[in-house]
Amino acid sequence: MKITMIGAGYVGLVSGVCFADFGHDVVCLDKDESKIAALKKGEIPIFEPGLAQLVAHNVAAGRLNFTTELTAAVAGSDVVFIAVGTPSRRGDGHADLSYVYAAAREIAANLSGFTVVVTKSTVPVGTGDEVERIIRETNPEADFAVVSNPEFLREGAAIEDFKRPDRIVIGVDGNGDRARAVMTEVYRPLYLNQSPLLFTSRRTSELIKYAGNAFLAMKITFINEMADLCEKVGANVQDVARGIGLDGRIGSKFLHAGPGYGGSCFPKDTLALVKTAQDHDSPVRLVETTVAVNDNRKRAMGRKVIAATGGDVRGRKVAVLGLTFKPNTDDMRDSPAIAIVQTLKDAGAEVTGYDPEGMDNARKLIDGIEYAKDPYEAAARAEALVIVTEWNEFRALDFARLKATMKTPLLVDLRNIYRKDEVTRHGFSYASVGRPD
Ligand code: NAD
Repeated sequence: MKITMIGAGYVGLVSGVCFADFGHDVVCLDKDESKIAALKKGEIPIFEPGLAQLVAHNVAAGRLNFTTELTAAVAGSDVVFIAVGTPSRRGDGHADLSYVYAAAREIAANLSGFTVVVTKSTVPVGTGDEVERIIRETNPEADFAVVSNPEFLREGAAIEDFKRPDRIVIGVDGNGDRARAVMTEVYRPLYLNQSPLLFTSRRTSELIKYAGNAFLAMKITFINEMADLCEKVGANVQDVARGIGLDGRIGSKFLHAGPGYGGSCFPKDTLALVKTAQDHDSPVRLVETTVAVNDNRKRAMGRKVIAATGGDVRGRKVAVLGLTFKPNTDDMRDSPAIAIVQTLKDAGAEVTGYDPEGMDNARKLIDGIEYAKDPYEAAARAEALVIVTEWNEFRALDFARLKATMKTPLLVDLRNIYRKDEVTRHGFSYASVGRPD
């Protein structure tokens, strides 16, 4: 199959290279010339484990190319994926579909022969209808089908997720036999590997993506509220999570209490689902509450740090370890660290941050703080050390070294990666989330 991927970001680049690795002939296209120039030189514009090697391998095999030129790429394609961003629209929280619609217009003018146009971006219910309308209006002669195929990969484990998905959801409308056959061919290697291919209507497929993300966000938020309750009643949230997670109906994943969900998907997708539901006069109150509880939580974690220092951080140094929204990515979008650092700064703290891969992106989003080259430089003269993201390199900190450099030995572990006794025996005070002091 000849495939064009419009948008070479976290999803487009990973999907494109994995399709190439399946044996398809793939062109990844982006409007961002610097991104394409870097890719052509063999440089990977994002941090994603295993991606550089897989790109190099498929480029060398001649199956993967990069371009900014849409015309030839689309004209020669059997399938065109739209994998552009759908951020929250400024002002009202709806998904901003301007990039998707712009891509649809550009594709429309260049279609040649039967082509399946696939929205891989996360898009609200009904977006496929509008993409179809735009293409038909722009190019009435075009022979095409618009399909929804939401992506479920997780940053940090993106290649593994793409190659071994729990399911592949494909939404096809009308007489979609030709589109269905093409999509089955695109995913044949996974299908042969027993990944279930779930065909639904286009609107259903679009909603599945939001329902999935909202459910996971709710699960995280639920355990976070349980953690707060645990702190009040003297219970241990990790044991509560294990105790409920072993129930097969609940499942143990996404039950880790922490500083609240962030990232490029859950915050914007929960909000967009709330807006879609309100527009259809069918409000999703559980999701509305999840959004509100999670928003509050991020600053509350900043206040938790302040409380752990004794209540006043003015003029005192606080070191923050981990700035990305989760480990193994350089993605800073909506990271809880942003609100936590802001809360500390608002209270007068001098903040130093360190992240293994996210520093370049962090600098664009968080200013007025110092950036350190490692955890120990960050901790120098600090009166609190805060773990916000559970990178592996923070799991075995040298406490003697930290204690020697910090002004006050206090660890606030917002990811519960240590046990209290492991930390206090080095002379540290310790605070964590939802566990008895
Ligand atoms: P991203 O911002 O990393 O990448 C989007 C890319 O599209 C950018 O490089 C941008 O330059 C490019 N682009 C925008 N308009 C274009 C156009 N008209 N022509 C060519 N290129 C264009 O975004 P992302 O994180 O890859 O997310 C893409 C979509 O996938 C979003 O809808 C997101 O919700 C969804 N999604 C993301 C993840 C994730 O973990 N990041 C997971 C599942 C789904």
